[in-house]
Amino acid sequence: MLQLDAVTVRYGNFTAIDRVDISLTHGEITVLLGANGAGKTTLFKTLSGLLRPVSGTIIFDGRDITRSKPTEIVRLGLVHCPEGRKLFPALSVEKNLLLGAYVHARDKAGVQRALEEVYSLFPILRDKAQDEAGSLSGGQQQMVAIGRALMARPRLLLLDEPSLGLAPLVVKQMFEVIARINASGTTVLLAEQNAYGALKIAHKAYILEQGRIILQGDPQKLLADDRVRRAYIGI
Ligand code: ATP
Repeated sequence: MLQLDAVTVRYGNFTAIDRVDISLTHGEITVLLGANGAGKTTLFKTLSGLLRPVSGTIIFDGRDITRSKPTEIVRLGLVHCPEGRKLFPALSVEKNLLLGAYVHARDKAGVQRALEEVYSLFPILRDKAQDEAGSLSGGQQQMVAIGRALMARPRLLLLDEPSLGLAPLVVKQMFEVIARINASGTTVLLAEQNAYGALKIAHKAYILEQGRIILQGDPQKLLADDRVRRAYIGI
């Protein structure tokens, strides 16, 4: 579904992503593990057209999107849920959600259907629909951020560290929700530092260090790998 070939991204002279090859399969959850500063957010911004690679190619569903604009990329169904949620705290939950449907705004019935789907995935958001997004708990705000991304009707959903800053029980629920979103047909690329929870739900995993892929493969095998256990799970 998504193929990155030798993608390199720089900030000035600094190479943040260095000849990265990644391949995603339809219907799967792929996890991209990496510590702070490894380059996960840079890679996601590149996939969604906010940054341009200096070299390499990105093919999404057979189409070269390396130089496409963010709005075109969203329309194709590649949708980015950013790190740190990036909500509009003074707007209501429902208005934040509706902003996610911006590219489909003319299809009013479709937007309404998508909103219903988000409310059935996260019933608490229906109860809080008219509350200011900034008044919600961290876990609820993360639901709004994911819900807003779902409003854009992703075929491939990029989730940048959705577990960041959440309590352990909420983190567990977040991974369960991601598995449910995937089970209903959405392909997921998940950037995480929480290796244990992410590897448990993933079909494939890549480990990014200083902008390079240093390990990749079956999540169960990576969970058993000493280097991964020491660096990412603390065992
Ligand atoms: P985090 O989990 O902390 O967000 P990350 O894996 O997402 O980390 P990035 O934010 O992609 O990492 O950062 C990768 C590298 O690029 C880091 O060394 C960072 O300091 C650098 N970097 C990020 N944004 C910029 C920028 N706008 N200008 C210059 N360097 C940047």
